[in-house]
Amino acid sequence: MSADEPIIGIDLGTTFSLVAYADERGPHVLRDENGDARVPSVLAVLPGTPGAPPTLTIGWPARDHAVENVKTTVYSVKRLIGKGLADLEAELPFLNYTVAGGPRDTVQIDIDGRRYSPEEISSAILRKLRERAEQQLGGPVRKAVITVPAYFDDAQRQATRTAGEAAGLEVLRIVNEPTAATLAYGIGAKIADQPENNTGGISLPIPTCPTASSDASTADHTQTVVVYDLGGGTFDVSVLRIENGVFQVLSTAGDTRLGGDDFDRTLITLVTREVQEQFDVGITAPATRQALRTLAEAIKIRLSEQNSAQIELSLGDDRVYRRTITRADYEELTSPLVERTLELCTRALRDADLGSNDIQQVILVGGSTRMPLVRQRVEQYFGRPPYTALNPDEVVALGAAIQASILAGQQPDMLLLDVTPLSLGIETMGGAMGKLILRNTTIPCRATEMFTTFVDGQTAIKLNVLQGERELARDCRPLGEFELRGIPPMPAGMPKVEVEFLLDANGILNVSAVEQRSGTQASIQIVPSHGLTKDEVARITRESVEHAQEDIAAHRRIDLVNQVEFDIHKTQQMLAKVGAELNADERARIERDIVVLRELAQREQNLDRLQEALTAFGHSTLRLAELGIRGALADQTDKNATEER
Ligand code: AMP
Repeated sequence: MSADEPIIGIDLGTTFSLVAYADERGPHVLRDENGDARVPSVLAVLPGTPGAPPTLTIGWPARDHAVENVKTTVYSVKRLIGKGLADLEAELPFLNYTVAGGPRDTVQIDIDGRRYSPEEISSAILRKLRERAEQQLGGPVRKAVITVPAYFDDAQRQATRTAGEAAGLEVLRIVNEPTAATLAYGIGAKIADQPENNTGGISLPIPTCPTASSDASTADHTQTVVVYDLGGGTFDVSVLRIENGVFQVLSTAGDTRLGGDDFDRTLITLVTREVQEQFDVGITAPATRQALRTLAEAIKIRLSEQNSAQIELSLGDDRVYRRTITRADYEELTSPLVERTLELCTRALRDADLGSNDIQQVILVGGSTRMPLVRQRVEQYFGRPPYTALNPDEVVALGAAIQASILAGQQPDMLLLDVTPLSLGIETMGGAMGKLILRNTTIPCRATEMFTTFVDGQTAIKLNVLQGERELARDCRPLGEFELRGIPPMPAGMPKVEVEFLLDANGILNVSAVEQRSGTQASIQIVPSHGLTKDEVARITRESVEHAQEDIAAHRRIDLVNQVEFDIHKTQQMLAKVGAELNADERARIERDIVVLRELAQREQNLDRLQEALTAFGHSTLRLAELGIRGALADQTDKNATEER
């Protein structure tokens, strides 16, 4: 694509809108100076000076304006676009602004006697997004792909197109939101091209690397996908069939009045009731009601991360309502809402003549899908973990940008995922890269490896997922990190942590870690190919060859230093336990050897010499080790005898 003709992708949402662009780095959302990609889909009409027309403002300032000026703020215009007054009977009671009939069975919004069409308001939002794109891409932007819900009819699609044109955009395609979400995950976008045969690089198998298995399911080109989209105010579920890159919407179901706001409302109702019971007052003051709405959302979001949260609401006159709410309490309150979404999934499946077993992929879209209960119930319902690796607020815009880049004929330099182009692994002790899946492995594939702790009583392990060919973690691309917490305290080396990498047919990586003695587990989902181009893969591979020798040495050094630390730690433990059985000279010699070895590990550059010193240390502590083993056996015999008694 020529640099002066970018095509942007726009997610024109009910509450928030986003703009994204795909360049050689892949698709990415365009953010404001605060790093926020979302533009509230809100327009505020500010009175001008007498005689002058009012000023229109969009986005965050408009949303702030709404708090005190409900009648001059227009939100949720997506609910009105392309509809006639007769279609809107159910909507009108929810809107604070005045809606009137317009020409040719359209509606208009009346603000202070001026009439605005929904297209005009949508176009102002689109212009704002276009301006952001122009600023960031450094030139004019005239072409766009815009997404709409799959259930939008022709009139709603046409009205959206008109809004785009009024914003100075040629709308090259109106794309269904679930289709965009699916594209963002690389599903259905496989380009009919053979993967490059990357034979120039080197693979450096780590001895403990398990065998990766693969199956033949990539050969199947038909996939049935469910897109579960729970946003702030609406819920949509769509069933799509993708066959040879062609997307077909088989069915949709949803509720235009079910979203994150309803989850907030359960907390608002709870607090209102308890305030009434405890203080015998209602929450009526507009400022307190607004504070409670903001608080309820914040508590809900906190409970997605934590197991409990503290609610504190000032009621004036020094009265403060306080309570702790646990995630379990909150899930009990909100479970009927989640169940309602699943009933709608059942309806969508029934309409598509399918059962939950027929679904190969489930994609989560919308900020409310961050709630653990939603993820858990969706997984149970469909019997498979849903895709959550991408930010659920951004996934539709990212997919729109991918569609835009396909239309731009910029044969998207998206990676072909028949094989994994770069190795995947985790950072091991001391900063080495432990590869679990080697580059060029056919996908889908699975690999596991056992890890353990390095410090006595260690109760958490941080897992840093990496991609790349280099031997040191710092030279690889970090993909994401997570922590396995709650390991029961045990001596170093005792916990058995199995780390599993599962790279599915769409190139999405699930990494999970399970401590086998306690069953503690944690996991993360990642799209390793996101933002990675063929050029980058080539560069990473080339660099791994250029640095091969020094990298192997660095990795070996890390392994040796780890071994030194481990052996010294064990020796010190044995000295403490059975050291008294050695004579004073022997003890002093081992203590000296410890100091010398530790110092050598710090400075010795010749790794063979370090290896020799480590071996010699093993010999010099042999007698101590024997005493230690004998002591441990004796302890065990005593213990058995006690138990028998
Ligand atoms: P969307 O319209 O897709 O941007 O979704 C916005 C909704 O997602 C709002 O109701 C937010 O309160 C909700 N939301 C955002 N983040 C979280 C979170 N971490 N946990 C629960 N809900 C969230």
